Amino acid sequence: MPLVSTKEMFAKAYNGGYAVGAFNVNNMEIVQGITEAAGELKSPVILQVSKGARAYANHTYLVKLVEAAVIENPEIPIALHLDHGDTFELCKSCIDGGFTSVMIDASSKSFDENIALTRKVVEYAHDHGVVVEAELGTLAGVEDEVSVEHGHESYTRPEEVEEFVSRTGCDSLAIAIGTSHGAYKFKASQCTRNADGILVPPPLRFDVLKECIKRLPGFPIVLHGSSSVPQEFVKMVNQYGGNMPDAIGIPEDQLREAAKLAVCKINIDSDIRLAMTGNIRKYFAEHPDHFDPRQYLKPARQAVKDMVAHKIVHVLGSDGKA
Ligand SMILES: [Zn+2]
Repeated sequence: MPLVSTKEMFAKAYNGGYAVGAFNVNNMEIVQGITEAAGELKSPVILQVSKGARAYANHTYLVKLVEAAVIENPEIPIALHLDHGDTFELCKSCIDGGFTSVMIDASSKSFDENIALTRKVVEYAHDHGVVVEAELGTLAGVEDEVSVEHGHESYTRPEEVEEFVSRTGCDSLAIAIGTSHGAYKFKASQCTRNADGILVPPPLRFDVLKECIKRLPGFPIVLHGSSSVPQEFVKMVNQYGGNMPDAIGIPEDQLREAAKLAVCKINIDSDIRLAMTGNIRKYFAEHPDHFDPRQYLKPARQAVKDMVAHKIVHVLGSDGKA
């Protein structure tokens, strides 16, 4: 099947009590690792491109890599989504350039400015058969060009969501319930430590999520910053010359709970970076004489595939839903 929008994906996910994974793509190995896992598990999948990815790899290369994945995986629905579009022009460029979904992130602006810019993107996108994700509330952390200091994040205010959705016409809404961008999602002072000395983050605000769901029945909710920062990869990075103290993420069981509710899209980026970096560091340490990029990118791609397969089955619940 050709690239699809997320409309049908989200309707099925909402009613089926699962979520679709949205994985950030920057190069061929990442696209292959994600879509091989989704293809084998018969799972729908969203490949998303940030402004930073476009700057790194070039719009055309990324679109063509994704089109190749569509050809290689004809049995699963694949959507191509712009992650954190910050201007109308960027969204328009992606809509004109083959994306099936865009995010306009005007969450740092005032409520009325957020509505005005989102509305403008929605009108253009819908005229071109493309769906739009918007955001209310701000997440802490760093993701490419989106950076919010800890302490400056704000939870979504449920009393605003109905007016926002009805005035903008957006197709899905990213909300802030305590997830966070990057591999350092929480400061140590926000956390407790378990018996192994690993930080345990504060729980997600399911009360905020449930209040949003009550006010937007049937409407797809999106969670950003939802990597779990697997400690096996953090350990691997640190064991082989890296230095990532206190890197932690969102516990997978909490994401699984959210996926059973109205959360239809869960964004995962840092876990891909960690899986690749940990495995490449390990490979270099064990094979100091190797210099062929295929030698170390192969286990990195396999690690992405294994990690995504784990997410699909144990976190998203989207296996067999293609
Ligand atoms: Zn995000």
